[in-house]
Amino acid sequence: MKRLLKGGRVVDPANGIDGMVDVLIEDGRIAKVGRDLPVEPGVAVVEIGRGLVIVPGLIDMHVHLREPGQEHKETIATGVASAVAGGFTAVACMPNTSPVNDHAGVTEFIMRKAADAKLAHVYPIGTVTRGSKGEHLADIAELHAAGCVAITDDGHPVANALIMRRALEYTRMFDMPVINHCEDPDLKADGVAHEGFQAAALGLRGIPGEAEGVMVARDVLLAGLTGGLYHVAHMSARSSIRAVREGKAQNIAVTCEVAPHHFTLTDEALASPIKYDTNTKMNPPLREQADVEAMIAGLADGTVDAIATDHAPHHADEKQVEFDRAPFGIVGLETCVPLTFDRLVHRGVISLSRMVELLSVNPARIIRRPGGTLAPGSAADITVLAPDTTVTIRTANLRSKSKNSPFDGWTLRGTTAATIIGGRTVYTNPEVAAASALV
Ligand SMILES: [Zn+2]
Repeated sequence: MKRLLKGGRVVDPANGIDGMVDVLIEDGRIAKVGRDLPVEPGVAVVEIGRGLVIVPGLIDMHVHLREPGQEHKETIATGVASAVAGGFTAVACMPNTSPVNDHAGVTEFIMRKAADAKLAHVYPIGTVTRGSKGEHLADIAELHAAGCVAITDDGHPVANALIMRRALEYTRMFDMPVINHCEDPDLKADGVAHEGFQAAALGLRGIPGEAEGVMVARDVLLAGLTGGLYHVAHMSARSSIRAVREGKAQNIAVTCEVAPHHFTLTDEALASPIKYDTNTKMNPPLREQADVEAMIAGLADGTVDAIATDHAPHHADEKQVEFDRAPFGIVGLETCVPLTFDRLVHRGVISLSRMVELLSVNPARIIRRPGGTLAPGSAADITVLAPDTTVTIRTANLRSKSKNSPFDGWTLRGTTAATIIGGRTVYTNPEVAAASALV
């Protein structure tokens, strides 16, 4: 089966393309990209509506799908439904399930469930240590052989510097990154919010930005020592970005990601419009203005490699408790594209091409998976964007099983029009009229 996407703007930075070109899909793969491709017999022509943009499928390298073990929050099936509704053709899922993904049995279970769901690709991430307990390295060779694309103890840091060193050394033979959730456990202590004016005013125990920054700085040094591939998860503090910048200047293999909530919200969201809203409790916490500005500067100047959502579903009952007792985290898959368009692209912080690098090209490169390109021969994993469609976020309408988001009611310009995986349209946005042609 052949489909010709005609009349859209294509933004494919990996191949230096930004213009009005056609895309021919054949048997689930990109067959040709070029100006005014001829309509051959047997080709279904899809007229791309005015203003829509075709980009390589978006990849979220940091999501929590909760299955196995916490299916009341999310399942792999509901998680990938949320992913495609957010424009993502692939996600990498964190290992802090129950049981944790520290052996091939769990990795294979996740991959089987993902294959059954037939939506976004799911790339499992294994643990660094057995049981994510931070004591003994997991069987990383087994995890790699089973299909894990990276290792992390996310949810917890790898606090022991020697274990981090060994992990960075050992993963070199698999060309696989070690992702760290950076927070010094002693400095974090039992903090629940960013240490600063808001936490003090609200009577909440604080977590200084430096709890993150000291571990990022340590890990950059260890990456330099070992030559391993090091990736910083959900970076939030200005001290962290300084450490990453210095590491990159010394050609150390360090990459990093920032979540949309860390470039859109400060800790003032803990006080208004709703005081102690547990949907503003995440880890790392929402930080102060100077940190948000540092994230935005890093996104603009290339220091930040990826935008990743840290999609962390929690059941409403779990979040409807005192701020101190609520679990950390918010859902993010379906709000990422509107937030990135509205707050970064439309405000002139980054170009659309840079947005595609942050959400597709670079994540694919970091986890060593295909994608991030519309080159002929590659899988037809495509996201169609509607940069000028204004949407209002309604958490009740999210495909995710959980609705824990601080962005309910936000009106934002720019969204996903459609998501195509292996040439098959798996999602069209009913709010974008022109998307109906893509069904
Ligand atoms: Zn984390």
